[in-house]
Amino acid sequence: MTEHPDPQPDAIAKITRFLLRKGAQLACPFCGQEQWGLIGRPGETTVMPMTTAGQHYPLYTIVCMNCGFVRSHVASVVDDATRETIDNVAAAPADAINHEELDTL
Ligand SMILES: [Zn+2]
Repeated sequence: MTEHPDPQPDAIAKITRFLLRKGAQLACPFCGQEQWGLIGRPGETTVMPMTTAGQHYPLYTIVCMNCGFVRSHVASVVDDATRETIDNVAAAPADAINHEELDTL
């Protein structure tokens, strides 16, 4: 692999918001830095092979921009949580909308 990870700020921001909502640690477990880049091109994900027949789980794979540690999160979990937040905001009565949460989407 000769390409360096593109930080892709929108995707990283989405993953970061998801992790914060879930109470996950943002700091790299090896160097403590919190700057991550996304491995892959915009609109594409990495995958975890599930079977030798080619079935797989799409992942968001991020790399610590300081030490290179790599971590992965199953894309459907991140995306479903993001979608639930958007649906809850859309279904809520106007006076029940948490505008702070809206601003973080
Ligand atoms: Zn690190």
